[in-house]
Amino acid sequence: MTSVDLKLAAPLDRAANAAGAPHAAQAVTGGRVLVIGSLNMDMVAHATRLPMPGETLQGERFVMAPGGKGANQAVAAARLGAQVAFVSRVGMQEYGAALLQALSAEGIDHGAVVQDPAALPGIAVIMVAREGGENSIVYVPGSNAALTAEDVANAAPRFSVGSVVVAQLEVPVPAIQQAFEMARAVGACTVLNAAPAMAVPPALLALCDWLILNETEAAQLTGLAAPEAAAQALLNSGPKQVLLTLGAQGVLLASAARLRPLSAPRVHAVDTVGAGDTFVGAFACGLAEGRAPLDAVRLGMAAAALAVSRPGVQQAMPRRDELPVEFS
Ligand code: ADP
Repeated sequence: MTSVDLKLAAPLDRAANAAGAPHAAQAVTGGRVLVIGSLNMDMVAHATRLPMPGETLQGERFVMAPGGKGANQAVAAARLGAQVAFVSRVGMQEYGAALLQALSAEGIDHGAVVQDPAALPGIAVIMVAREGGENSIVYVPGSNAALTAEDVANAAPRFSVGSVVVAQLEVPVPAIQQAFEMARAVGACTVLNAAPAMAVPPALLALCDWLILNETEAAQLTGLAAPEAAAQALLNSGPKQVLLTLGAQGVLLASAARLRPLSAPRVHAVDTVGAGDTFVGAFACGLAEGRAPLDAVRLGMAAAALAVSRPGVQQAMPRRDELPVEFS
């Protein structure tokens, strides 16, 4: 298997890449990011508080918006100028066409998204309380649970040297394993966002250049509350590097050399839902355009800081020209 030196990631051939991106609707300035992941419709009802079990409560507002960790991370990277392709399975029974249309609108290549006419896409029914901002979510994975290793293998032309392959745990592990094996075979970098928290097979961890997770997920996986101890334990489990995200505090980077805390920009946060997805997508974008890892982490934190300072998830994700000039 090939290992990747991120600093040596080859510059990308724009002309060659353009042929593989039939939905390029916006200017593409960065490298290639391939996301293997979930595509959901989020149905969000806002009320003054969450209902009690058995209670019917009148809400104040309803919003339907594309989501899923995979799609969110793909959008975060595309907004910043990466050339993004997405591998997923979408149920076309309801909302499927709208979800694909939303990817197109972001310039994301969805030619490798398998359309399943008989299935429902992933649906997240979300209730948000105005008082305190608490939420409750019922997530029905739908077609996301049916993504197979074969679906991923069929996306082979979209795996390329110097690109960054990103996955999360809302699709089956065999599909991710297949993707990371293909990534290693072509000399692409692998990023696993271990969310939602669940045990990750050692064989998959061994294929990760980067393992990214938040403090809660790290504690759940390792049983260790202290971020430093959890990061070290995760690093010992197989990935080359670990990034533990710490909300407003920033990120803890764990590599063989050392543990390194990195501070997030200070902002007034109004909605932190999706902060992790923005961070992961922006970090992948940074790596794909050949930035050194620390620089890519800073790009991720800058994008996430902007996203939490405004409402919504995909809606809040910044474009490149909104970031500080050092990231242009
Ligand atoms: P998740 O969304 O998975 O819970 P975090 O809350 O750790 O993940 O947030 C991910 C990243 O988003 C953080 O590492 C940080 O860079 C950024 N972020 C989150 N909350 C804030 C905040 N209040 N201020 C600035 N940056 C934030």
